Amino acid sequence: MPLTVKSRRKRSIRIAVTVLSGVLPVLLGFAILNMQAERALKQSSEQTADEALLQFNLMLDNTAEAAQVLLPLAGGSCNDAKLALREQVTRHPFVRSTNLVYDNNLYCSSLFGDYQQQVNPGDYTQGQLWLMNGNPVTPNTALLVYRLSDDKKGALTTLNGYHLSNLLRLIGRQTSLLLQVGNNWLSADGKVHKGALPALPVAQSTRVSGPYAFTVAAGFPEGETWRYMSSEYPPLFSLLIFFGVISGLIGHVLQKRASSPSVELRRALEAGEFIPYFQPVVHGDTKKWSGTEVLMRWNHPKEGLVRPDLFIPFAEHSGLIVPMTRALMQQTCALLAPVSASFDKPFHIGINITASHCQDLELVEDCREFIEAFVPGSISLVLELTERELIEPTDITHQLFEQLHGLGVMIAIDDFGTGHSSLGYLRQFNVDFLKIDQSFVAMIGADALSGHILDSIIELSAKLDLGIVAEGVETEAQSDYLTTHHVNFLQGYLFGRPMPGADFINALSHH
Ligand code: C2E
Ligand code: CA
Ligand code: CA
Repeated sequence: MPLTVKSRRKRSIRIAVTVLSGVLPVLLGFAILNMQAERALKQSSEQTADEALLQFNLMLDNTAEAAQVLLPLAGGSCNDAKLALREQVTRHPFVRSTNLVYDNNLYCSSLFGDYQQQVNPGDYTQGQLWLMNGNPVTPNTALLVYRLSDDKKGALTTLNGYHLSNLLRLIGRQTSLLLQVGNNWLSADGKVHKGALPALPVAQSTRVSGPYAFTVAAGFPEGETWRYMSSEYPPLFSLLIFFGVISGLIGHVLQKRASSPSVELRRALEAGEFIPYFQPVVHGDTKKWSGTEVLMRWNHPKEGLVRPDLFIPFAEHSGLIVPMTRALMQQTCALLAPVSASFDKPFHIGINITASHCQDLELVEDCREFIEAFVPGSISLVLELTERELIEPTDITHQLFEQLHGLGVMIAIDDFGTGHSSLGYLRQFNVDFLKIDQSFVAMIGADALSGHILDSIIELSAKLDLGIVAEGVETEAQSDYLTTHHVNFLQGYLFGRPMPGADFINALSHH
C-alpha cells in the first residue's frame, strides 16, 4: 500500500541522516566543551601568571630594599659596613646575602666580610638581575642577584633560589610556571636552564615585570585540554551522548514523518500522479452510453495503479481531497471537452465530492470553469455525494447548492440505501439523482429483503421525481430486472469497467 510504504529515499541515505542527526549535536557539543575547556585553562594560566608576577615583584621589592639601604655604604670600609650587611640579611626574609661593590669590585660580603671579586655588569639583565645556577658557597642552587649601582658605588643583594622555585611550585600547582631572567630560566624543580623559554603549547600566558627585568610564563603541556575535559566533564559527556541519541531518534522519526500520508499525497499531487478513470453509465432502456462516472486513480511510480479507497480517506483527512478533485476535474476537461461536440446530449459526467468540499463556495467556481470548457449544452455535470457522509445544512451549504443549481449542476446521492438520509434532506438539497448502492443490485434475485429495499428505493425516487442510477450491474439478470423496474441509468462491469481517458474516448466513438 503506497501510504504505508517506507520512504522512497534510499535506506543508506536514511541511515546516514539518522546517524548524522545523532552525531552532529554530539560533535557540536564536544566542540563547545573543548572551547570551554580551553577558556578555563587560559583563565587559569592567566591567573597563575598574574599571581606569580605579583609575588616575584614583592620578593624583589624586599631584596631591592636591602640594597637601597646598603648602597650609601659602598666605597666605605668593609669592617664598618659588615654589621649593616648582616642586619639587612636578617631583616629581609628573602635575602640570603648582601655585598658592597666599588668600581665593579665586590669588596665586602655579609658572608665573608672582606672579599675580592670582579663584577661584570654585563652579566646582569638590564644591569639589574642575574639568575645564577649557584655560587661557590652553594653550587647548583639557584640564586637571583639584584644589583643596585650609583656611579662607582654598588650593592648586590641575593635572593635565595629556593624561595623562587617554591613559589613556582606553589602558585603553578595546576600549571607549568617558569621564571625567565635574560637568557636564563628557572623551572619549578629549582633548576636553572640556559636559552630561550620552552613553549608551553596549551594556553600560554606571559607576563613581563615592570620594575624588574624578569618574565613569567604559565601554560600547560600538550594534551592538557583533553585531560582537563576527561577529568571535569564526564557528566556532560553522558548528557551529550543522551542528547545525541534523542536527536538521532528525532531525526529518524522526522524522516518517517516525511513519508507520512499527507506528505506523500502532496508530492503525488504535485507530480500529477492522480488521474481520472472513466466508467460508462448507460441508459436503462436503450443501454446507450449516456455518461460517465469519473473515478480517481493514483498512478504511483512504484506501486502502479492504486485504488481510491486506499488513499481517498487519507486525502479527506488531510484536506488534500479538494485540490486533488480540482486537478481531476481539470484533467477530465482536458480529455473530454475536445470531443464534447459529438456527445449524446446531455452527457452526464459524475464527479465524486466529499463533504469537506462543500464548506465554502470554491466548488461553484470549479464547476463553472468545468462546464464552460465544454460545448454549451453538451454535458450535465453531476456531483455525487455519498450518503454515508452527509453534509450539514448551513447558510453556506444552502448558498452553495443554490448557486450550483443555478449553473445547472445536478446532485446525486451516492451509495443510496447505506446511510440514512431523510426525505427532508433530499428536498433540502434539491437532489436530482439517487445512486443505488451496488450491494442492493448484487442481491437481485438472491435476497428477498434487499430486493424489497431496492423496490422501495425505486418507488421512492419515482414519487420524489428523482432520477435513479443503479451501480454495480454485473449480470444480464440484474440489468433486466432494473430495466423492467424503469431504472433510468445503469452502471457496472456489464457495460464497462473504469478505463483510462483515451480508452474511454475510443470506446465512446463505437457506442
Ligand atoms: P463509488 O463512488 O461508489 O464508485 C463506484 C465504485 O464501484 C468504483 O470503485 C467502481 O470501479 C466500482 N464498480 C463499478 N462497477 C462495478 C461493478 O460492476 N462491480 C463492482 N464490484 N464494482 C464496480 P472505485 O473506482 O474503486 O472507487 C471506489 C470509491 O472511491 C468510489 O466509490 C468513491 O467513493 C471513491 N472515489 C473514487 N474516485 C473518487 C474521487 O475522485 N473523489 C472522491 N471523493 N471519491 C472517489
Ligand atoms: Ca460515485
Ligand atoms: Ca457508489
